[in-house]
Amino acid sequence: KLQLVWLRSDLRSRDNPALYQASLKGPVICVWCSFEEQWLKHNDSPNKLRFWQENLNVLKKNLEVFNIPLITKRLKRFSDTADSLLQLAKKIDCEAIWFNDEYGANEHKRDQNIKAVFDKAGIGCFSFTGDCLMTPGSVLNKEGSFFKVFTPFRKAVYQNISPSDYHPCPAPKKQEPPSLNVKSDKLPAYKPTAENILETWPAGEKNAHKILKAFIEERADGYKKNRDFPAKTGTSSLSVYLTAGVLSIRQCFEAAAKANDGELDTGCAGLACWMSELIWREFYRHILVGFPRVSMSRAFQKHTEQIPWKTDKQLLKAWQEGKTGYPIVDAAMRQLVATGWMHNRLRMICAMFFTKDLMLDWRLGEKFFMEHLIDGDLASNNGGWQWSASTGTDAAPYFRIFNPASQSAKFDPDGVFLREWLPELKNLDGKSIHTPSSGKHDLLGSNPDYPEPIIDHNLARTETLGTFKSLKK
Ligand code: FAD
Repeated sequence: KLQLVWLRSDLRSRDNPALYQASLKGPVICVWCSFEEQWLKHNDSPNKLRFWQENLNVLKKNLEVFNIPLITKRLKRFSDTADSLLQLAKKIDCEAIWFNDEYGANEHKRDQNIKAVFDKAGIGCFSFTGDCLMTPGSVLNKEGSFFKVFTPFRKAVYQNISPSDYHPCPAPKKQEPPSLNVKSDKLPAYKPTAENILETWPAGEKNAHKILKAFIEERADGYKKNRDFPAKTGTSSLSVYLTAGVLSIRQCFEAAAKANDGELDTGCAGLACWMSELIWREFYRHILVGFPRVSMSRAFQKHTEQIPWKTDKQLLKAWQEGKTGYPIVDAAMRQLVATGWMHNRLRMICAMFFTKDLMLDWRLGEKFFMEHLIDGDLASNNGGWQWSASTGTDAAPYFRIFNPASQSAKFDPDGVFLREWLPELKNLDGKSIHTPSSGKHDLLGSNPDYPEPIIDHNLARTETLGTFKSLKK
């Protein structure tokens, strides 16, 4: 009997447990649903949606090799799914629906409803762990609760994980072409706001694996040394493929572990460091499941909900447009808007400046990132924002406040990244480019096109420390 595989953020034919397991049971039909209203509510960016669409087109072709058809449904909200998929399941007379778990609170609610509706209709419903190394809930502390801090979480993962946990599952079984009497809905074409996204991140599994292989063979070795410097190509830039599920966490982790002779936190420092970053991704997924309130715009550290965050529109606009007068923040924000991506060190600097210098509500920054990022991901974006705002899982205390000028001088020492995004500062020397306003009396150094700092970092820091100190636990 036919099996219906519902593809979501797992746009791949390889290491797709739901697809593989279904293909062992019988001929498979894949379905993919678009949810325009829901995505808008979730602030998903047109950059990301367009990238996903392109990947869907490539996946459709990849699945043809196995004679697996892929049909599309155009829905509005998650709440439309159960009716629509049940109707489809009945029409094709399928035995069961199969999918890989997603961890946001709304996604979880939607899937619980699907399970209940299919169960009532006497149709099977099977779900799998396709987006994590370890199923959330399977890595717990001594008290049997979810970990709240990264380092002990990683330690527990490494103590419990075995190579079979990160060994990818095979491609689906090739089948006879099923006769199918169902039409696909035409999906709208999303228009990216960033430039050249499809040239920068070519769609499809083949391309993703090419980038993974090149990174492991050529750059992973120097990852630990280079990863914090935005002017270097020091990181993998695979987040875009991981978020869309074109590449799986297991495929990445196994490739790194193999290159490191099976070692995880020892061996090659670059590979070990990269695997540890993959575990950050894992950690935030487990946090989403263990503490669903973070999916609902709530602070992970409940006592920080007392903070009187600001919503000042002018400050927000200056930050969004890259006009804060702090070059490293401005260059990074312009990179985000222009390309749909931002380097990790810069994400931390921008988010910390937003929350600790401007005291703006982290939820507004989280939203703006989601609206532009091509790799926008609820778990990692929320985790990163709450870490930076000290409302989250950071083991370091709230008085960790980056000084944007020192960060700039440390991680872009010659101003190469700054010059790429701030042409108005390109003539400044490597030292004054980090603090252009301090050189304003120097006729050669001053620049009328570049704004004065919108805030005094030292004063803002003192005020923020005072606010955090006054919070009642
Ligand atoms: P690499 O350095 O090559 O790392 C490999 C992979 O590990 C990444 O692709 C990613 O999947 C994972 N990873 C690395 N660092 C982190 C981290 N700190 N947290 C979680 N996973 C990590 N990542 C997203 O994928 N989507 C987001 O929406 C997102 N928003 C962020 C917002 C803020 C404020 C911060 C501080 C971080 C955010 N991150 C997000 C994490 C990180 O910045 C990106 O994953 C990374 O920059 C992607 O580049 P890369 O693929 O070259 O990373």
